[in-house]
This record gives sequence, C-alpha cells and structure tokens, in this order.
Amino acid sequence: MRLCTFEQRGVPAAGVVARDDTVLSTVDLVGGATDEDDVLDLLLAGEEFLTDLRNAARKARGGIPLASAKLHAPIPRPPRNVFCVGWNYSEHFEEGKQARGQSGPQLAPQEIPQFPALFTKNPATVVGPDAPVFFPAPHSEQLDWEAELAVVIGKGGRDITEAAAMSHVFGYTCANDISVRDVQRRHGGQWFKGKNFDTHLPMGPWIVTADELDPSDLAIRSRVNGAGKQDSRTKFMVFKIPRLIAEVSAGCELWPGDMIITGTPAGVGFARTPPEFLKVGDVVEVEIEGIGVLRNPIKGRS
Ligand code: MG
Repeated sequence: MRLCTFEQRGVPAAGVVARDDTVLSTVDLVGGATDEDDVLDLLLAGEEFLTDLRNAARKARGGIPLASAKLHAPIPRPPRNVFCVGWNYSEHFEEGKQARGQSGPQLAPQEIPQFPALFTKNPATVVGPDAPVFFPAPHSEQLDWEAELAVVIGKGGRDITEAAAMSHVFGYTCANDISVRDVQRRHGGQWFKGKNFDTHLPMGPWIVTADELDPSDLAIRSRVNGAGKQDSRTKFMVFKIPRLIAEVSAGCELWPGDMIITGTPAGVGFARTPPEFLKVGDVVEVEIEGIGVLRNPIKGRS
C-alpha cells in the first residue's frame, strides 16, 4: 500500500495512492468508520485498521489523478528530529576522504568506524515532493544532494534487537539529505548546523508499507536537471537496517513515526571532479526502486 499526505479542500489529509495512480482519502476509503486523517494517526491505529484500509485500497479506483494532486511529505511534521546515518556506503566514504584530502583539516576518520555515524535533522527541515529547497545564500553557495532510503518506524521500542528490528518498520520512502557542505564542516566536526537549513530534507512522494517492499537490494539514484549523479543499490549499505535500528534504539525509545534516513551512496556534488553544487533553478530528483521519484526545485529566498 502506498500512503501519502495530500491536500484536500486546502488542508493536508492522509491518502492512499491506488493502483490506477489516483489518490483517495483514507477517511473516504474506510467509509467514515474512522477519523484517522493524518498519517501519524494511521501508524498508531493498529493492525486491524490497517488491514481494513489495505482491503479498501486494493479495490479503490477513481480518486484524484496523481498529476493533479498536491502531495506533502508523507509525515509532514515528524514528532521529533529525523535520525540520520553518515558514511553508510563505502564508496561514498572513500570519495569524501579523497575530496577532504585535497582541502582543509582532517576531522574525519580514515576508515569507516565500527559504529554508524549518527546525527539528526529537525522536523522543520522536512518538505514534500515539488516543494522548493531554499538556496543557502548568503551563508553558503555549497548546496549538495544525498539520495537516501528513509525507514519509517511503526512500532516503538527501546533496545530493539537486530532480530526483531524489521517488525518495527512501518514502511519506506525516499529522502534527500540536502547538505550545506562548508557549513557542515565548520562546527567542530558536528554536522548538525550544515544539515539543518529549513527545507533541506525533502521526503516522499509516499510511504510504501513494509509488507510490499523488501529494502535489502533496491536501486537508488539521484539526478540533477535530468543528468544522473548517484546510481547504486541499497545492498551496499555498510550498516544494514536492522543494525541501524538496534543502534538508534539503544537506550533511546523509538516512537511510531520516527524516521531513520540510511545514508547516501557515492556521487554527491562536493566529491566530484570538479566539485558541483546545486544552483537556483536546478531540479533535483531522488529515485528508489519500488517507491518512486522525489523531485524538488532549488529556489532563492526572495
Ligand atoms: Mg546523508
């Protein structure tokens, strides 16, 4: 099942993207038996409700065509910061090491550490499909892309074992961990500032529920103005999803609606020769096999 948040009569509502690529509201689909009108409510509504919704979605037809629906991020305002993983594809680690070697001090390790590098992006960074990503001037001109698979937690828990981890996953969506590179390196090796400009975490276009997607070997790509930049597969993650859930939940209770973005493959802008950065007017896309395409324009602040 594909679950989205779309604009209905001017307000965001939870929707299902049916097989005919139209969007129907979940409230309409389950015949008024619920007031679950946002995706976070759906996560908490329980398996019985989701089964009803899944059955209704299977037969659903004739909603708003996707092309004319305005989609928001599937979870437009996450309950708290989105958990993020750095250096989770070895080729991306290597390209970063090479690029950093050409300029400036070495704050980064020489080998991928034994534990994943973790940081967060605050809820206000999240925007949906087609929403503008703001160029970071006057603070920087080094705006970069990072295609990532996002994991949406459905069942909370603390100290989740790797063996149990996948049963806590509700579904998956695409994310673009937009990064302001020079600012990212400016603050004592803590990436938070350069990763937290407003609008710098596009997510979407919808959540594909975990029963319909095996995330272990999916094509993951990014494009800028149609030109391919990243092209890899999720099987190349260094730390796999169960390990990431175990690490993030160690001593820290995960909540339904929490999200973990799982790191980016090689092909980001700063590590290219010569380096490339996003400009006002560019369109950046993240595509993940089995999910879809997340597309965003870069805009200047007026
Ligand atoms: Mg990233």
